[in-house]
Amino acid sequence: VPQTEILKFQDFEIELQRRAHQRSLRLRVLPPGILRVSCARRTPKRDIARFVLQNIDFIEKQMARIRVQNEKFPPKKYQPGETFPFLGALKKLALIEEDSRPRARIEKDQLVLRGRPTTMEEREALISKFYRNCGRKYLRSRAEFYAKEMKLSPQKLSFRSQSSRWGSCSSQGNISLNWRLMAAPSPVLDYVVVHEIAHLRHYNHSRAFWDLVAEFSPGYKQNKLWLAENQWALDFLAKQ
Ligand SMILES: [Zn+2]
Repeated sequence: VPQTEILKFQDFEIELQRRAHQRSLRLRVLPPGILRVSCARRTPKRDIARFVLQNIDFIEKQMARIRVQNEKFPPKKYQPGETFPFLGALKKLALIEEDSRPRARIEKDQLVLRGRPTTMEEREALISKFYRNCGRKYLRSRAEFYAKEMKLSPQKLSFRSQSSRWGSCSSQGNISLNWRLMAAPSPVLDYVVVHEIAHLRHYNHSRAFWDLVAEFSPGYKQNKLWLAENQWALDFLAKQ
């Protein structure tokens, strides 16, 4: 477990992670504008400052990219009329008061929350839970479908929600899929499923691997690009 501390440095806040088994300095810029630096347990602060200065152009470029993304995908307020992507289609949020435990579901082109009045935080949690439940069910059915088609089956299938990891496959053949994909268009979701199942045959990203992916997900290049460009559209589901 890394030790984390916050350092103020010029205009930035640095989230510093000191790790026992790390020797070099590394940095990442994360939404909504966090500069995370990791280093060894005893790296002096002046080395960290020098490292940040050496990489200042890269950091500023990344920060600018994040500002643009924040404008393109502003944080959700969970107000009626706001739109939420569900399998790539935008659903308008509708709140319908009823004397019941609040629940979310899709009704035609709406994401409907029925039940007793809720706070913004409750709506956020209810909607995330709804996506998680739908995501698990739907991804499981897609994984079963492609496992049959591709004649490859995972040892174990599990579901997660890391913010930028869509799927993974272990060398033991365990596949994990990100349920937040429920917000993405279905060809994109299918591409991730096909990608991970293809790893059961090719545990690498070789030419043979991509040929297998292309066989079952012909538009895989576009779907990959969609994920790279729109991953933040799925971030409203990150907290859970
Ligand atoms: Zn891969």
